[in-house]
Amino acid sequence: MIAENIAYVKKRIDAACTKSGRNRDEVTLIAVSKTKPVSMLMEAYDAGCRDFGENKVQELVEKYEQMPKDIRWHMIGHLQRNKVKYIVDKVYLIHSVDSLRLAEEISKEAGKKGVTVSILIEVNVAEEESKFGTTCKDAISLVEEISKLPHLQIKGLMTIAPYVENPEENRQYFEKLHQIYVDIIRKNIDNVCMEVLSMGMTGDYEVAVTQGATYVRVGTGIFGERQYSVDRMEDLS
Ligand SMILES: *Cc1c(COP(=O)(O)O)cnc(C)c1O
Repeated sequence: MIAENIAYVKKRIDAACTKSGRNRDEVTLIAVSKTKPVSMLMEAYDAGCRDFGENKVQELVEKYEQMPKDIRWHMIGHLQRNKVKYIVDKVYLIHSVDSLRLAEEISKEAGKKGVTVSILIEVNVAEEESKFGTTCKDAISLVEEISKLPHLQIKGLMTIAPYVENPEENRQYFEKLHQIYVDIIRKNIDNVCMEVLSMGMTGDYEVAVTQGATYVRVGTGIFGERQYSVDRMEDLS
């Protein structure tokens, strides 16, 4: 089932690339495996998936220990500063950096471990109160400040679009994030290498691809609906 879902999602990414004249190699599918057991992740792995997204530090670390070592782990959830130390040397990319304080902590812990961490700046493009992320207005100045820190490199931007029935409603937000991305490239900021736009989830990844996404983050479309226990209700936002 999981292999078929992945094939289906990839086919639709192919179609969205063709439609918008993009090269298929520019778009990577991240399998968002939060709440799902390692057995299901292994099915995705066997179907060729090497990029996995998790939103909880402890869960990411547990799965990291159990899964093959050639996986690229993406931290896509809100990150608390006191947990940064557990993942800096395990993640391929942190998508959810939205403050200077968090970036400073990542920089400090990366320095201790002797690694350079790749990060994205999360932008709350739709300005939803329930979501994390910097505002569009503050995004560029935040990039400028964070770019001065050692042991990390800004690679691009990420957004979580609103939950909508019609994915076309989110096109405006993807377009806006792309515009900020282009504005940052034009500024030529030292130590900033803008190459990643992480946007699009199960409901709207095709629209995101036509607006320039380089990573799409698909959970439900690959692994099916998630079951949340009461202590995980915060994940539902
Ligand atoms: C859960 C999650 C996803 C995947 O959502 P689906 O709608 O299941 O595809 C993508 N991005 C982030 C940040 C998430 O937390």
